[in-house]
Amino acid sequence: MTENGDATPLVRLENVNKRFGDLHVLKDINLTVDRGEVLVVIGPSGGGKSTLCRTINRLETIDSGTIVFDGKPLPSEGKALARLRSEVGMVFQSFNLFAHKTILENVTLGPIKVRKQSREAAEKRGMELLERVGIASQAHKYPAQLSGGQQQRTAIARALAMDPKMILFDEPTSALDPEMVQEVLDVMVELARDGMTMMVVTHEMGFARRAANRVVFMAGGQVVEENTPDEFFTNPRTDRAKDFLSKIL
Ligand code: ADP
Ligand code: MG
Repeated sequence: MTENGDATPLVRLENVNKRFGDLHVLKDINLTVDRGEVLVVIGPSGGGKSTLCRTINRLETIDSGTIVFDGKPLPSEGKALARLRSEVGMVFQSFNLFAHKTILENVTLGPIKVRKQSREAAEKRGMELLERVGIASQAHKYPAQLSGGQQQRTAIARALAMDPKMILFDEPTSALDPEMVQEVLDVMVELARDGMTMMVVTHEMGFARRAANRVVFMAGGQVVEENTPDEFFTNPRTDRAKDFLSKIL
């Protein structure tokens, strides 16, 4: 629930189905994400986790069902779609920074182009955000000059610069060298503590236990199990979840 007491979910998916040709990738998904909630999505590769994320900011269309974001059905085009995209930040496994722009430019581009902020205002806020994720000293470097962990923290600052209502994280630490995983997770835990609504696809149990309100286990295009992190990790109910956990723990 938010500070203004809005108890309606920020996102609600009802009977959502998605196919790629003959492949039924999302099967009757029913799921809500509450305001301020951290939802961790976990499950085997190919289970539909990325597609689920991508339907929420409409990088993918759906074949049937409804998705309601902040009280309204997802817009399909025009200004409303552009607004949705700026309200739902996304952080990918592969950082997706602009290679020929500095770290600060990566963070200020959206606010200047989409939000029509002045360069001065965008840079001031951009520096605050880089400070928040611990890389202000790197502001004038280019992405290739930074470590993977620093690049991913830049991507998080870039998402925050749009003042999103929610951030989707799709395996944000999977491409990182092990020693850099924690610095990115720490930033995400901070965000969670600050009340950001987050959907996080990750296999990082430590993060789930520290930050998640709920864990959703997805496999074969379905939500197979939904529980608190403690219950899910210590007491998985389905054989599928037990089997999956035995392989990653
Ligand atoms: P996960 O993120 O859980 O690994 P994905 O959502 O990426 O799963 O993929 C679910 C299934 O959909 C996989 O079988 C994948 O190959 C398939 N898929 C994903 N994107 C596309 C696409 N654009 N076209 C065709 N098939 C796709
Ligand atoms: Mg994926």
